[in-house]
Amino acid sequence: MNAFVTRFAPSPTGLLHLGHAYSAWTAHDAARSAGGKLILRIEDIDRTRCKAAFEQAIYEDLAWLGLTWEPPPRRQSDHFDGYTQALEKLRDKGVVYRCFKTRKEIADEIARAPHLTPDGPEGPQYVGAMLAAHEERSLLAEGAAFAWRLDTSHAVRIAEKTTAGPLTFTEEGAGPKGEHGTIMATPEIFGDPVIARKDSGTSYHLASVYDDAHQGVTHIIRGEDLFPATHLHRLLQAMLDLPAPIYRHHRLITDETGKRFAKRDHAVTIKALRESGETHSSLRRRVGLA
Ligand code: GLU
Repeated sequence: MNAFVTRFAPSPTGLLHLGHAYSAWTAHDAARSAGGKLILRIEDIDRTRCKAAFEQAIYEDLAWLGLTWEPPPRRQSDHFDGYTQALEKLRDKGVVYRCFKTRKEIADEIARAPHLTPDGPEGPQYVGAMLAAHEERSLLAEGAAFAWRLDTSHAVRIAEKTTAGPLTFTEEGAGPKGEHGTIMATPEIFGDPVIARKDSGTSYHLASVYDDAHQGVTHIIRGEDLFPATHLHRLLQAMLDLPAPIYRHHRLITDETGKRFAKRDHAVTIKALRESGETHSSLRRRVGLA
């Protein structure tokens, strides 16, 4: 058994940029120095935004960056059954509820009482409620679409009873405010997040937590923008009886003006850099890696 397993988990929704190169290299270097392995996961549950051409570009970019990973890469779209089973487990524990509301209904509700929904990592900390059984039955009979939301406070209570104390996670890198060491998990910052979307039946959070455990990931190395998600992931691990990996969040690579790269900004892509004649060693130096 490998004592150190980490992963790089890009979403094929655009071309990878310098920030991805840094993240992939950081994970790769850590695996190498620990004598462990790097695995690649294609996070493509969003079937409308993910494109086969971007997945192909990921393989080409990573090969050019000099990265190797344990084959085969795991494609999340091949594992919807597993995510459904994980959702069933959450249903069995009574920590999720159906939410039939549309985006507009939720936005209107929030606008009526904004003080009840301060902003969290994914927008307002919306907290809904399970409908009365007869209301739910009639909506289901009408074929109304619904998402599954996590009943966060209920789940936290169960988790704390099970662990006989507050939930924590181990951060060996640093969060955006320098958070390091044993961190108290505060998943309440998400309100009651959608755990299974109306369209895909899962979410980034559920699929990622499930996959990390099923792929035996011991160390999660990723950008500090995902540090807040860890609070929720820790709670999902506890609810799904999955092991808690160790986290190493890393700094984000920014452009000359201090702005972080993002796919939507048409930031400097690895493909463009490659085509402009950059070498991978000059790129490594540019992002501060030897
Ligand atoms: N798929 C996510 C992204 O491309 C990464 C998720 C993770 O590392 O947990 O931003």
